Amino acid sequence: MPFSAAIREVSTVRRKIDLDNFQVASVKTARDINRRIVLNLIRKHQPISRAELSRHSRLQRSTVSVITQQLIAERWVRMGAFGNLPRGRKPKFLHLNGERGGIVGVDLRPENTTMMLADLEMRSLAQDSMRTGSDPEEFIAELARRIRRLMSAHSHLAFEGIGMALPGRIDLESNRLVFAPNLAWKSVDLKGPLEAATGLEVELENAANACALAEIWGGAHSESVRNLVTVTVSEGIGAGMVLNGQLVRGATGMAGEWGHVTLQENGPLCKCGNRGCWEACASNSAAVRYFTELEPTQNKPKMSGMPTFDLVLKLAQQGQPQAHAALEKMAHYLGVGVAMTIAALAPDVLVVVGEVTRVWDRVGPIIDGVIASRLSMGSKTQIVPTNPDTQPRLRGTIALVLQKHFGVPHLA
Ligand SMILES: [Zn+2]
Repeated sequence: MPFSAAIREVSTVRRKIDLDNFQVASVKTARDINRRIVLNLIRKHQPISRAELSRHSRLQRSTVSVITQQLIAERWVRMGAFGNLPRGRKPKFLHLNGERGGIVGVDLRPENTTMMLADLEMRSLAQDSMRTGSDPEEFIAELARRIRRLMSAHSHLAFEGIGMALPGRIDLESNRLVFAPNLAWKSVDLKGPLEAATGLEVELENAANACALAEIWGGAHSESVRNLVTVTVSEGIGAGMVLNGQLVRGATGMAGEWGHVTLQENGPLCKCGNRGCWEACASNSAAVRYFTELEPTQNKPKMSGMPTFDLVLKLAQQGQPQAHAALEKMAHYLGVGVAMTIAALAPDVLVVVGEVTRVWDRVGPIIDGVIASRLSMGSKTQIVPTNPDTQPRLRGTIALVLQKHFGVPHLA
């Protein structure tokens, strides 16, 4: 039953075959799908024997043998003598080859850019960070220099590619960054120059989409979760949507810009030029603005320049009233947008990514309250704050490269 897993999936999705754009399944396609099924089963159940692989995949033992031979030859998989059965028999168990996958993840944010070198299991091997700056050309040159340094410090690894999360949207045809109001870079080609400078393939993706993929690949959700939305709350707000098991991009790659949906028609000015966008009311920058706008009291600390969101968080945790009020206002508007998202999409899970989850004990109940008061139809969506210490955005960048090898094959 070589196609059993794939067929089961399609039958629950109820998708029409697109008769203007289809590809019949060739022997090569079938082989590729089976190979990916086996690779994913090894990732999930490792260490695992060929007999168990055959049972899980329902592929014949001989087919499993051919596929695993190929995976071993390509260094994706290694054989280790982990088994120790009675009578001295030592079955050969398979596991992912830790030395095959060197994946470089880059999380580009308006202020700082962080880099992570990770293995096939999304474990961090090394990290680095740098100022993002205002000149894209200088940025790419410095980033490439640091990536090459990471690569030469880990030269025993085979490098698979670079995944990069961006605070904006990428044009699907030109691969250029085209909408990033918080970064203030015009249309930029990040992919070409970085590939030329490092020799590695570069996958670009909006940060929220990357986080959604990371949740699907490495999150603690059940395998049956097929509708998941991530909301990244940082300098702006973005949403990544996996619906019916597929990342939603829309016709132009701009889907998920909930951050620029108007909540208040005459509200605060947004970096995109409009007023009252969700992110102008509920992002980290909005909380900082609320904090600075509130009437100073004797408790308010003196500071030079704009405070950071981290400072507002810290002051709120210390019980400083203005910081606390600013955070509550941000949480209220987060709730308004989350309720809108749930009403529109009814996901199984909505994951919140961002520093604000550090104070979820205060923010979570406010969001729950707004949802309860606004959604008369009720909500079954589970709202999950991510732990910022697990670096969800960087994990998203690693998932961008992993999905190329472990995901459903691209048949174009
Ligand atoms: Zn806007």
